[in-house]
Order: sequence, then C-alpha cells, then structure tokens
Amino acid sequence: MIKLFLFDIEGTTTDINFVHKVLFPYSEKCLKDYVLNHQNHPTVVKALEDVRKTVQQEEQKQLGLYEVIEKLLEWIKIDRKHGALKEIQGLIWDVGYTKNDFKGHVYPDVKPFFMKILDKGLKIGIYSSGSIHAQKLIFGYSTEGDLTPMISYYFDTQVGGKRERKSYQRIAEETRLSPAEIHFFSDIPEELEAAQDAGMGITHILRAGTKPSHFEAVSDFRVFMDFL
Ligand SMILES: [Mg+2]
Repeated sequence: MIKLFLFDIEGTTTDINFVHKVLFPYSEKCLKDYVLNHQNHPTVVKALEDVRKTVQQEEQKQLGLYEVIEKLLEWIKIDRKHGALKEIQGLIWDVGYTKNDFKGHVYPDVKPFFMKILDKGLKIGIYSSGSIHAQKLIFGYSTEGDLTPMISYYFDTQVGGKRERKSYQRIAEETRLSPAEIHFFSDIPEELEAAQDAGMGITHILRAGTKPSHFEAVSDFRVFMDFL
C-alpha cells in the first residue's frame, strides 16, 4: 500500500524550461543593480571575493567591481556552476518571487493530484537536486498558488545523488516507511532505476520533450487519480 508519493521537480511537476527561460534571464537582468545596491551585504561581499579569487587563479587578473559583475553575467550565459554565482542568484530569486515578478511553474495537473492524495490520507514529498529553500520557493509562489501546506517532506542532495540507490533508502528511513510504501515520479530513467533498486514503486513522467523509456509512463497525473 502506497503511503507517500515522492515527486521530482524539473521535468515532472515543473517545466524543465522554467529555470532556463525564467529564472536565469531574470537573474541576468537584475544582477548588476542587485550587486551595486547590496555590495555590503555579507553574502554578496563573500561571493564577490570568491569570484575575484577564481579569476585570479584562472586568468591571473585583478578585477574591479564592474568587471566582477561582467564576469558573473558571463557565467550565467555559460551556466557555470560556481558557488558565488549560485549564492547571488539565490538572493535575486528570493526578491523576484516575493515581489511577484514571476511564479514557480507547476503543471496544472499537479494540484488536483495533490488534493486527491491528501483526501485519501496519504502524504506528499519532494526530491530535487535544487536546494530545499529553492524547492519551497517554487511551490510557495507557484502558478497554482501556495502548495507548501500540502507537502510533508522536502529532500535535496543532502540525502545523496538522485541516481544512487542509497539516497532512496535514506528517504525511506527518514520518513519511517518501507521503500515499498513510497512511489516515486521522475522524468529521468536513471533516477527511476535507483528508486526501483531501493524497492520503491516508480512511474516515468513524460512531459513535452521527454523521451520514453522501458518504464511505465504517464504524461498527466490525472491518469492516476482513478487508482487512488
Ligand atoms: Mg527531473
């Protein structure tokens, strides 16, 4: 008997393009003003220092403030996974969500499915490689309203990588359920494989652009509602 439904975000509850077409361009647009207006914010000070250090090591150059900003903009364009950029982007997105400049994209079939799950007395969890803070922002300020009161558990890569069996075992331990009581939804076959190896039930979610796999798949959560 399933007790917990566990959801991936990107490509499952949320359009995979949300990050690239909404979040990245927003941070690019706001970065210069944000940094200039918050250059004494301790997180920003530390991040700017880290950028300078990296460039010093890689290019033997000393950067002034405007050059650091240019470098950060360059890194957004090439999607460089640098901690300093992630920190500043996180701060900019916090502002964007709370100012309602954009909403976290959630597909319209997600909320009715969440409601049905809760109706049946079952639980909802999220497992995404984005930080728990970022997960709560997406669902808290979503296109479907604030869904956070519906969600009991959030997991990020603190429990381990999404393609590792152990991570799913850890999620079962932390929720005090047996893996067989958890059903995991994702768009990535390697993640489904790992969850299945841990003993969870799985379904491949096929949104526009996702390639099918040998796993059982659905393209809309409403398909599931009749089985609950
Ligand atoms: Mg995904």
